[in-house]
Amino acid sequence: MVENINKIDVLAIGIHPDDIELACSGTILKHIDAGYKVGLLDLSRGELGTRGNATIRTQEAMLSAKLMNASFRHQLNLKDGFFENNEDSIIEIIKIIRASKPRIILANAIEDRHPDHARASKLIQDACFYSGLIKIQTSFGGIEQSAWRPQSIYHYIQDYHLKPELIVDISKFMEKKMELILSFSS
Ligand SMILES: [Zn+2]
Repeated sequence: MVENINKIDVLAIGIHPDDIELACSGTILKHIDAGYKVGLLDLSRGELGTRGNATIRTQEAMLSAKLMNASFRHQLNLKDGFFENNEDSIIEIIKIIRASKPRIILANAIEDRHPDHARASKLIQDACFYSGLIKIQTSFGGIEQSAWRPQSIYHYIQDYHLKPELIVDISKFMEKKMELILSFSS
């Protein structure tokens, strides 16, 4: 999927298609409401999820992105559960970072019950760093890309109660956030 990846302010990334909705969609809604552009990147299609399947989950994810008014939602095909922090995975993420040039990245929790989350958090951090190296050459949609390193990465909190360093008040957006979560009916 290469749908309209354009310059945004914030790129929210999750290893599973519902990570973003569950963990940081209130923050995203608040930023979109304030006029910022936010794009979404799912690293896998969540094919190991107990219910539903990858096709259903993709439809749900796209519906939620629409309700959120996200600038785009892109899905990579890293293997749910078995993805690795290696050159291929890093390059796939770099392509989307360079295509969308975000200043801020939202990423998986650094420590969590589901082992994919911490692994993805490190992978995203690494991709953000390497994306800034000009000698790593990439192209996307037939266009050669230039280096881009986001200014900051914020890790959202998932299942474990980690001590937050930054809290965003999303009380005005709670109702809408629940609507987004419910679009993942599988
Ligand atoms: Zn997850």
